[in-house]
Parts: sequence; C-alpha cells; structure tokens
Amino acid sequence: MQTSNLAFQPPAEEAAPYLLPDGSTLFAGRADRFAALAGGHSLGDWLAFLGRLSRAQHDALQALPELPLPDAARLAQAKTHAMPPLDASAPPAAWRDALRRIAGQLAADAPAAARRALEALAASDDAWLDRLAAGLLAGEAPAEDAAELPFVAAALQVVFTQLAGRLDASALQPLDAAGVCPCCGSAPVASIVRIGSAIANLRYLHCSLCNTEWNVPRAVCTACGGDKDVALHEIEGGGQPVRAETCDSCQSYLKIVYQDKDPQVDPVADDLATLALDLLVDEAGYQRSGPNLLLIGAQGE
Ligand SMILES: [Zn+2]
Ligand SMILES: [Zn+2]
Repeated sequence: MQTSNLAFQPPAEEAAPYLLPDGSTLFAGRADRFAALAGGHSLGDWLAFLGRLSRAQHDALQALPELPLPDAARLAQAKTHAMPPLDASAPPAAWRDALRRIAGQLAADAPAAARRALEALAASDDAWLDRLAAGLLAGEAPAEDAAELPFVAAALQVVFTQLAGRLDASALQPLDAAGVCPCCGSAPVASIVRIGSAIANLRYLHCSLCNTEWNVPRAVCTACGGDKDVALHEIEGGGQPVRAETCDSCQSYLKIVYQDKDPQVDPVADDLATLALDLLVDEAGYQRSGPNLLLIGAQGE
C-alpha cells in the first residue's frame, strides 16, 4: 500500500493522489459558480460575463471531437524523465476551433471592449492565433493583446481539459517540480481543501490550464515546500471560503479555497471573486505563485 506523506493516519479508503477533470461537468459547474458569485458583487457584471464565458467553454468542449492522446512513445518518455504526458507548449490545432466557437457564442452578449476582441479573434488567421497561444503558454504574452488573452486561455483550457480528463490517472507520477501539474506541467491557480469520503480534508492544487488536481500536504508552501513561515490571511468580515496562503521563505502566495465552508466553491471563480485579497497580500510584498489565466491580460503579465 502506498504510504501517505501526511502527518495523520491515512483514510480507510485510499485517497486519490490525482483528480482528473470531468469535461462533461467542469465548465458548467464553474459557470454556475460565477453566476452565483456575481449577485451583489462590486464586480458583478464582470463575474457574470465570465460565467457566460465558462458556459461557452462547456459548449465548446461538448462540441469538440475526441483529440488524439499522447502516443505510447511520448508516455514512456514522460515516465522515464518525470515529465508531464501532455505538452502544454504544443496545443492541438483544434484549440482554434474551440476559440472561434467561444467567440461566436459570446460576442453578441459581451461588453464593448470584449466584443471588439472577440470579433478580432473570430476573423483572424491561424498564424496570429498560434502566436497568441504560444506567448500565453510561455508566460510572455504581449501587453497589446491583453483584451484577447482571456479568450485564448479559455479555448486552450477547453482542449487541455478534454485531454487531461481522458488520461489514465494511475499512470501519472509526481514530477521533480512539485508545484506544477503532473498532466501538463502548468502552474496551479489555487488549492482546494475537499470534502467527500476518501478525500475529506485533503488539499489539492488545481491546474490553471487543464483543471487537473494533485494532492499536496496542508500547511506547507506550495511554491517552495517550506513549512516554517506559512500563514493564512483573509479579508476581515468577508465571510468567503477563500484565504491567501503566504510563505515568508519565498515571499509567494496562492489562494486556498475550502469546500467545507461552501461545497460549490471553485478554484478559478472564487479566486476572481476575491481580488481584494490579492491586493491585501500584494501590498504586504508577496508575489503570486500561479496565474489565473482568465485574468492574465488584465494583470499585465
Ligand atoms: Zn495541467
Ligand atoms: Zn515558499
């Protein structure tokens, strides 16, 4: 039996080290969460729009044909070299179909600036789209494309979520870099403390690109692995199931969301509904350790 790296007794049923995304429900659930968070929120219009974007991601994923999974040679190579099986720097060409579908669905109902970006994306040639995707996936997206980037990211999430969801979880392995996704090598958007029989109170990091989750210990910095100088912060009186976990060793932070405080919590949506918490820890000098790709242009990254 696999031993747990947690300090307490392992649960009776073995806890899953990896939770692969379910493409039939993931984006629909996120759409509902954005819609719920939008009510009475100071950024309600934006969150409601992101809910419609998540719905368009759901529809695009359902319309997507089954994409080819990595072949046996790639899987064997990944296993030998502790590399992720999916290559996030080489999205399948179908991501552009997902993008055009999302753009077509959203444009009519989008705020003016977003509508211009969506129309430009829908009308653009493959070469420009591929340049945008390459820049975004390399973390070097040009600032002048900021308005287009959330939609590029949304389409890339669709294809990588379908691929990740069809991998064999039992064939995955921890990578040398503990802080990155074991399916696609991307940075996490946040971590989530889950409820449910075999995984109750376990913490998982949630991939910013493919929505895979992987188990990590609690009270340990998810960026540097240190456990001495980790602290949790929340907005006073906020009443939200979201905290920021900061680390004084590496001066980084990432949010952590708690399903026992709200079962509907979503790492991507709840992150964007709590930007005040980012401001709080930014002002205290901490750097965020993983992106939220739906915000990446707005952050000027
Ligand atoms: Zn991933
Ligand atoms: Zn750290």
